[in-house]
Amino acid sequence: TAQIETHEFQAEARQLLQLMVHSIYSNKDIFLRELISNASDALDKLRLESFRDKSIEGIDIDDLHIDLEADRAARTLTVRDNGIGMSRDEVVGLIGTIAKSGTGELIEKLRAARKAEGGDGATGELIGQFGVGFYSAFMVADTVTLVTRRAGRSEATRWSSDGTGTYTVETVTGEDIPVGTSVTLHLKPEDPDDQLHDYTSEPVLREIVRRYSDFVTWPIRLRTEKIEDGTTTHEWETINSRKALWARPKDEVSEEEYREFYKHISHDWLDPLRTVSVRAEGTFEYQALLFLPSRAPMDLYYRDAKRGVQLYVKRVFIMDNCEALVPDYLRFVKGVVDAQDLSLNVSREILQQDRHIQLMRRRLVKKVLGAVKEMMTDDRGRYDTFWSEFGRVVKEGLVEDPDNRKAILDISSFASTHSADELTTLRDYVERAKDDQDHIYYLTGASRSIVENSPHMEAFRANGLEVLILTDPIDEFWVEQVGEYEGKTFQSIAKGQVDLKTSEGDEPGSEKVDESSFDGVREWLAETLSDHVKEVRLSHRLTTSPACLVGDTFDIPPALAKMYQQAGQ
Ligand code: ADP
Ligand code: MG
Repeated sequence: TAQIETHEFQAEARQLLQLMVHSIYSNKDIFLRELISNASDALDKLRLESFRDKSIEGIDIDDLHIDLEADRAARTLTVRDNGIGMSRDEVVGLIGTIAKSGTGELIEKLRAARKAEGGDGATGELIGQFGVGFYSAFMVADTVTLVTRRAGRSEATRWSSDGTGTYTVETVTGEDIPVGTSVTLHLKPEDPDDQLHDYTSEPVLREIVRRYSDFVTWPIRLRTEKIEDGTTTHEWETINSRKALWARPKDEVSEEEYREFYKHISHDWLDPLRTVSVRAEGTFEYQALLFLPSRAPMDLYYRDAKRGVQLYVKRVFIMDNCEALVPDYLRFVKGVVDAQDLSLNVSREILQQDRHIQLMRRRLVKKVLGAVKEMMTDDRGRYDTFWSEFGRVVKEGLVEDPDNRKAILDISSFASTHSADELTTLRDYVERAKDDQDHIYYLTGASRSIVENSPHMEAFRANGLEVLILTDPIDEFWVEQVGEYEGKTFQSIAKGQVDLKTSEGDEPGSEKVDESSFDGVREWLAETLSDHVKEVRLSHRLTTSPACLVGDTFDIPPALAKMYQQAGQ
């Protein structure tokens, strides 16, 4: 007959549990994610073991699943898997203690943080470095009972605790107990004002699974209840879609599936322009499936707009709008990143600092920029759509991300005096430029027609020199910082002395004039306009206009000056 033993939790486990019971997280729903994740791991392990050891009996590898069963009257929720299970020693070792290094330190920090601020913010962050897993069940349950039978063993183990100081273990004969683990939560009393967190409710469970575990590869089945004509029937219904597209080899996924998935995660009605899939093996394994949308969202320029991709850890959903994975200037990119070696409780703050994440982000940026470049050559129409929707945002990267300047300039296109309706790439500009032209000429302004009608244009037009027409506000910023492309420096035609490299004799209207004969009118102009201009100079740059305004080489651009002015500086 069974003997029930009472054990004490290891000191650190007890402390962590105590913090758990008094709820570190405001989001309690994640307990289910944790239990499903454990179940999923256990199924993975069993599958692996069955490959290695064919002798394990009574295992149907084709019928591995995770079951959720709620009992409204008893207020229990059971999460059951037919995975690898645990031996008695494993239960005591794995559940009763925390073997992770740094636990003590973490708990100290948690305590200090709780005392200092009394809130959940800092503690949530700290715990993110750690992963609380199974203990999160105590956020929602008064008592947790676990019954488990290790694959290949005949006996089973029952474990139970109220999450305070102790737990009980007992060995039970496993004959009628299937291999695997079942975790039953005796839920805390119902809060009538909080139906959304009633974990015995079918819709609530469906929603949490859909949100956090939809792409778990194993079926998650919910025991549903139907009452028809006074008779109650039960059924197991699989409630996750199980489609981890990113984990499947690219050539096994259809375009249609990619499109569906894109729409699912982006809530967009249109098809994506391009799919980018990335796979990294080695010390930091991850898969990413990214999409370029075909239309810019309304809130692309709003400060507080949602941006970033979804983060998964081993197929388990961790967070939406993860900004750490893509830079601001690619904020329109949608998709999923699934990393193998992160804690399930990783926080945004930790992601920002993680070295692996930074490397991953750099690689993703390169992949996205590379995909746009490919589109430029293999599907020009799509590229044009992309650029007209997102070009303005991508150009922010020229300022934000100096490392990728060259790659961004390569995929940028601009209006130019070369064509009235087509944009040009810098490469094409450089190819057309005269051999001795050291500059890429540009002029910024509020609109194409304002720029084209500027007096500054005249000499360039007369000399057949191409000028880029830059009309986006961001252009003023990057063009100042970028400096050059393929050895040619960016040169505003509205600034300083522009050397047109034409010989005196070729210059239009070049009869020799005595320049001093203009001194009178020049001085008069300088005096009359002294509040508005620094200097009045004779110019060779105009052909038909009598005069133009020229900025100093190091003047702040007019758009910037205007912004400062509006900001009251
Ligand atoms: P983690 O999953 O990060 O290791 P948890 O607290 O979630 O931490 O779980 C602790 C350990 O307990 C797991 O590593 C696993 O060995 C064991 N375990 C938990 N749930 C199960 C389960 N359903 N089946 C088998 N083993 C489990
Ligand atoms: Mg876990």
